[in-house]
Amino acid sequence: MMKQYLDAKAACPNALVLFRMGDFYELFDEDAKTAAQVLGLALTSREKGANPMPMAGFPHHQLDSYIGKLISAGYRAAVCEQVEDPKKAKGLVKREVVRVVTPGTITEEALLDPKKCNYLAALVYPEPSKSQADAETAGLNAESNSAPVGLAWVELSTGHFFAGAFPREQIADQLARIGPSECLVAESFESNVPSALRERMMLTTRPVWAFGLRTATETLLKRFGTATLEGFGFTSEPGDAAAIRAAGGILDYLAETQRQSLEHIDALLPYRVGSQLEIDEASRRSLEITETLRNRRREGSLLYVLDQCITSMGSRLLGEWVASPLTRLAEITVRQDAIQELLNDDAGTREIREHLRRVYDLQRLLTRVLQARATPRDVAQIGRTLRVLPLFRERLADRHGSFLRSLHDFIDPCEEIAEQLNRALQDECPLSSREGGFIRDGYNAELDSLRDLQSGGKKWIAEYQTRESQRTGISNLKIGFNRVYGYYIEINNTQASKIPEGYIRKQTVRNAERYITPELKEYEEQVLSAGERGSELESELFDELRDRIAGAKTRLQKTAHALAHLDVLANLAVLARERGYCRPRVVEEPVLMIFDGRHPVLDLTEAAGTFVPNDTKSDDRHGTIQLITGPNMAGKSTFIRQVALLTLMSQIGSFIPAKEAEIGIVDRIFARVGASDELSRGQSTFMVEMTETARILNMATARSLVILDEIGRGTSTYDGISLAWAIVEYLHERVNCRTFFATHYHELTDLAESFERIANLNVAVREWNEEIAFLHKIVPGAADKSYGIHVARLAGVPKEVIFRAREILADLEKTHLDATSHHLEPAASEHQRETFTQTTPGGGTMQFSLFGPEDHPVIEEIRQTDMNRLTPIDALKLLSEWKQQLEQDAKKLRRRRPG
Ligand code: ADP
Ligand code: MG
Repeated sequence: MMKQYLDAKAACPNALVLFRMGDFYELFDEDAKTAAQVLGLALTSREKGANPMPMAGFPHHQLDSYIGKLISAGYRAAVCEQVEDPKKAKGLVKREVVRVVTPGTITEEALLDPKKCNYLAALVYPEPSKSQADAETAGLNAESNSAPVGLAWVELSTGHFFAGAFPREQIADQLARIGPSECLVAESFESNVPSALRERMMLTTRPVWAFGLRTATETLLKRFGTATLEGFGFTSEPGDAAAIRAAGGILDYLAETQRQSLEHIDALLPYRVGSQLEIDEASRRSLEITETLRNRRREGSLLYVLDQCITSMGSRLLGEWVASPLTRLAEITVRQDAIQELLNDDAGTREIREHLRRVYDLQRLLTRVLQARATPRDVAQIGRTLRVLPLFRERLADRHGSFLRSLHDFIDPCEEIAEQLNRALQDECPLSSREGGFIRDGYNAELDSLRDLQSGGKKWIAEYQTRESQRTGISNLKIGFNRVYGYYIEINNTQASKIPEGYIRKQTVRNAERYITPELKEYEEQVLSAGERGSELESELFDELRDRIAGAKTRLQKTAHALAHLDVLANLAVLARERGYCRPRVVEEPVLMIFDGRHPVLDLTEAAGTFVPNDTKSDDRHGTIQLITGPNMAGKSTFIRQVALLTLMSQIGSFIPAKEAEIGIVDRIFARVGASDELSRGQSTFMVEMTETARILNMATARSLVILDEIGRGTSTYDGISLAWAIVEYLHERVNCRTFFATHYHELTDLAESFERIANLNVAVREWNEEIAFLHKIVPGAADKSYGIHVARLAGVPKEVIFRAREILADLEKTHLDATSHHLEPAASEHQRETFTQTTPGGGTMQFSLFGPEDHPVIEEIRQTDMNRLTPIDALKLLSEWKQQLEQDAKKLRRRRPG
């Protein structure tokens, strides 16, 4: 047997092998030690003595829950079953690994989040070319390979399967959008996978040949029963080849780990870049679209507040919508129209939602049917779902919009199947078809007569008890049943003297003896064989039902798809009505005009009625670049995020929390938070902040939306201001995209005077009696004062400190006014001079000259630098050199300072 175990282990070296022994699953050796720790199992040992082998185990019926724990702790589990009936086996029972469970291949209902897709992904990186490989061996910095990377992803529980090819630098963003729980990659390319992603998914390495193009194509064609992949929209260009190789890698992996039918995976959909709103990984995180920044929970995210779907199919689809908003006006409008129509028909929509409550997860149920894993309960749930379908069709008849009309047509009530399931199955069905008793009487004549026979036998046995008790005069004579002896007559020892002739003693128990009689055994035979044959027949009838459903696979898949869409649309319609959302006018022009807009999450989480609505006006006239200044806690971050979230919501087709809005479609959303605002991630390095900023500056187009929150904060003040200044200038001059920049650097507000499309906004604050109230109202103009001290006061900083801080502030303001009483003209002007002044309490003044004739040598260097030929890394190097130089000079200055 240990040989069987070692074989299993050798076949699945990187999984914990759960080895079935009788009623237990056992783990051995290192696996046992791991399991003892992770699962809290007692560690024992097999073969005591010289070299005992560690062993740990758990009862077989707890398999699912233990697998769940192993998976969430980051392990894979190989389930090694007894594949022969132990009673019939000669010698050792045969055992085989029946499946390997990994995060991306879970199909157990209990282990899946019903509201979330669970994707398995695969990446195929291009082979380095010969010259590149040579260069790398020689230690040279090779040109990065520009061939696209293949990416495929599948949801095993529904069969949804996609593939596409992406530029290498987009892989992290795509994976962030998909959010797979596991990703396959060829051994030699493991290090290519962006490291930030590894903590969010399990990385599984596969042999390179598993991604071969020929094998992949053949596997896919065989799987789908087609002659080419062109029908799915794939061509022979290199990108598609990479996509197909990734898809092939997935099928190869599933074949190896699942040993189950993959019949439900019957199409591969190409994913084309450009039809979706692109949101990079960092922006996705920072906008808290599907999970919160701090604890990565769904609660508190945009998706969380938008998801009031009734079915889990709806919740999953909405998750996909929110993760990939649209960019095509026509597609957005079609969704809006459907929502509008449902919104106008409030009663009808509520009725639809009521009917949806009776709909089960048809997608995942269907997969279980196709994999022959469906239980009678599953099939009964399909039956119940089918029975509701005519009601949806009724509610969807005579609709105007094309979307709703197509949903009507997609919903196929499959009446014959519905009728049959209804006739066949009891209302309450068991989880195993072996339990029997779930087929209704009257469905099958043979089953009915077997049941009659069985119950006739049982009735005879009950009567026999009364008869024998009277005949023998043994008042407490009773008939019982157990698995070993079948039916028996039990007689208490006190009545032992009355035992009649012909009773055959079988068993002695406490205070009693058990007997059988030939008559009893005859009827027992009738009961048992009719029972056994009955269960067999029920099981056969059940398989028939399953096959019947499997035969209608395509119709049911379409129906499920339509139900999910109907749920999402009805959900968005109800939200729009209940929360007073408006239908945004979505247009192609680069504008953002929102009146009385609210942050979709805070609108709900803040006490009712306390969220202050705000206007957004971004266009050529009002300024495409808006700088928002104001004290801490005023609502700057909230406002700029709100703009991004409302845009995103508009592009999924949803209505938005505002009175009125005009939203120009954006191609990408960038949201970046300054390093110190993101301390919670433990990654507050300025380098990260700048890398992300570099990305934005390099990738944003005139149609993009850029949200910058306190960028430049992660470094010293002057550094930070200068960078922020230059970034805004660049966005204005080179990109000119809709930008919202929240900053507490008041100095930046001067930019508005030099640049036509830059506008200043600030957050209104009311101040009286040395108290302040944040009004959270965004108003035009620059903030003129820092309210930090007031905030400190509110926070309970000792009075003494507050008093002293006021003194210092007054001092500083006086000096600053003196120094900056003249404002900056266009920055391009060489002769202008702007001085930032910092005064220390002692009265000493340290000057830092940014622009001027007798500039610091660093300034001259900046002038000489050709920005266009600078890589971000080089820019950072330069920056750090300059900074060092400036700091040294500052030190010298400070030494000279009086006091
Ligand atoms: P800032 O970025 O200016 O420091 P935040 O945007 O983080 O400020 O907002 C601070 C807090 O103020 C938020 O957590 C929220 O509770 C509240 N707040 C922000 N905007 C509003 C608003 N429009 N209406 C009501 N409360 C708001
Ligand atoms: Mg903020």
